[in-house]
Amino acid sequence: MMEMQKQAATRYLNRIEQLEHLSEHEKAQLSKVAEKFAFRSSDYYLSLIDWDDPDDPIRRIIIPHQRELNAWGRLDPSDEHSYTVLPGLEHKYNSTVLLLVSSVCGGICRYCFRKRVFMDSHKECLRDIPAAIDYIRRHHEITNVLLTGGDPLMLTTSRLENIIRQVSEVGHVRIIRIGTRMPVFYPYRIIQDPTLLDMLSTYNDERRAIYIMTHFVHPRELSTLAVEGIQLLRRTGVGIANQTPLIRGVNDSPDVLAKLLAQLSFSGVVPYYIFQCRPAVGNKAYTVPIEEGYEIVEQAKARVSGLAKRARFVMSHASGKIEIVGRTKDFIYLKYHRAACDQDSGRFMIFKSNPDACWLDDFDEAIRDYPANQPYRLYGPE
Ligand code: SF4
Repeated sequence: MMEMQKQAATRYLNRIEQLEHLSEHEKAQLSKVAEKFAFRSSDYYLSLIDWDDPDDPIRRIIIPHQRELNAWGRLDPSDEHSYTVLPGLEHKYNSTVLLLVSSVCGGICRYCFRKRVFMDSHKECLRDIPAAIDYIRRHHEITNVLLTGGDPLMLTTSRLENIIRQVSEVGHVRIIRIGTRMPVFYPYRIIQDPTLLDMLSTYNDERRAIYIMTHFVHPRELSTLAVEGIQLLRRTGVGIANQTPLIRGVNDSPDVLAKLLAQLSFSGVVPYYIFQCRPAVGNKAYTVPIEEGYEIVEQAKARVSGLAKRARFVMSHASGKIEIVGRTKDFIYLKYHRAACDQDSGRFMIFKSNPDACWLDDFDEAIRDYPANQPYRLYGPE
């Protein structure tokens, strides 16, 4: 395990046979997995792996495993299809649209919830930018545009700027977010491209804010190079917030999660969301049941400062972003943080405990008589 020299050229690996640390038997086995769920990594990210540790968390994140072939989950676990109004444009929450501007990432996380993008990028990604801009322009309620994919920083800076410029010309768009894992998979993308930094500081002005939404899942991903990339981004004046899925064998320990949250806050990155791992195909072995996850998150938060524990533990359900807010012996308490339907906004829900539940649909609702439009009234157990 050795961080690469700064001047080393990074290359991307797409074939299991290129992984020199694996035995021929492992390569043969894992090539079958990669036929179904693509493998990709930068050599920089592979250099973070401790190959002597079969349970190494970085290895678990990026190297395919046979457990992915266990039948479980869906290709579109959050039903993004229902909110797709144009290929590559999703409009789920009234003020926010997603543009899937890239079908490639610097690496492919084994627990990815958008595996389908890598299977049929033509169908999933944005092809008609003028049509997307026209849609945003006609919908005055849209104040936030999230560029995602895939990874927008896989685009050249000039292509990315072309999109950001057109979005920023729509007056009612006040925030442009760039969802990226490039500070993790390939920090050189930031360190070696001053034009990217110039472009971000140009468009981050008094009319609109740019936020970089990072995706760190383990403290070891905050390498010296990654932190250097983050500091360069911070100097442009953009906001930086992090989204962390809770992943079995990676950050499902209070100590590891606390360290991650603390180190993010030390680096000036706001811990924003901790996500319940979505029930995507192949994800069972990476998923922590919700109630166990809640305990891990709370224990981690107990070990860090207020600035490090700003993240909410949520699941991105088809019906909205649902926060896991509490638990007692018999019940679990959830609340819509963002709802696809306005009448669900802020709605509080009480479910009977189910230690095996990994998603909202696995719970039996204990209390059913929620009056509409009274989202903040709390009900005790029956
Ligand atoms: S960075 Fe995001 S979109 Fe890309 S593989 Fe990982 S989870 Fe999937």
